[in-house]
Amino acid sequence: MLQKFDPKNENIQIYVNGKLFPRSEAKISVFDSVVQGGDAVWEGLRVYNGKVFCWGEHLNRLIESAHALCFEKIPSIEEITKALRETLIANEMYDQVHVRLTLTRGEKITSGMDPRLNTKGCSLIILAEHKPLVYDNDGGISVITSSIRRNNPQFLDSKIHHNNLLNNILAKIQANVAGVDAALMLDNDGFAAELNGTNIFMIKGSTLYTPFAKACLPGITRDKVIQIAGNQDIECWEKDISLTELYNADMVFATGTMGELTPVIKIDGRDIKRQDRSAIFTNILSEYHALTKTNGLVIKPA
Ligand code: PMP
Repeated sequence: MLQKFDPKNENIQIYVNGKLFPRSEAKISVFDSVVQGGDAVWEGLRVYNGKVFCWGEHLNRLIESAHALCFEKIPSIEEITKALRETLIANEMYDQVHVRLTLTRGEKITSGMDPRLNTKGCSLIILAEHKPLVYDNDGGISVITSSIRRNNPQFLDSKIHHNNLLNNILAKIQANVAGVDAALMLDNDGFAAELNGTNIFMIKGSTLYTPFAKACLPGITRDKVIQIAGNQDIECWEKDISLTELYNADMVFATGTMGELTPVIKIDGRDIKRQDRSAIFTNILSEYHALTKTNGLVIKPA
């Protein structure tokens, strides 16, 4: 499922450090820490019916990630929110929209690794594009297990949502070479961590399971699914999940802002049963859809 260029995005305006620029003129300095070391944090957001879904949660993860990386002069919540609002209004983007919001450590006075070279404060980039869901909730995806392990707090804590994505990109290349949609990444102990760009859940019997957030991003969609399971009295456990357990699950699905909830229909060549689109999955997905209609930062009142 390779995304294609959408001509609707030809004339978009992109926010960079306080100003909106046409696509061809939106640039960042070669001295910026994101160019020099992938030294930045980011959030992927979706806009539904004039609202930025789960904005509070995304903003919180962004600020916590920047704080963990010891960024200085982090823009205030009000400034970031104002910039996001301005960008969406300028582009008249209110639905079927994806936003990639990036906060870098900022520009350096000279090339180098040391964060003390960053004297200007953070750079803020807001790239909003017309984009339907990247996966459909119905069809499902096939995955392989990657030989690249998902990093954990011993190396680089997966709770920091940073731009240094090479770990996951290497896994995605393996999926591409194998001709499947995504790569399943294991943790240091050989248990499932997550897919290269989404979290993973498994249904067995009437219970939902997801890996502990030891070596995965604590996804906001993952969190919503756990909350919805609670609302619906569905038992949901975090646990170490082995490949054998996934191969024999009643259903496996991926979660993420870009694609919502997506069935995983094949893992390493093993078909995953779907129990007629497990009622558990269908009920959680429909409550998730209901939430996208009500929750979020209002940009354009309905
Ligand atoms: N895992 C990884 C590695 C990701 O990059 C993402 C999305 N940025 C997710 C999971 C899903 O997170 P969320 O539900 O917050 O979009």
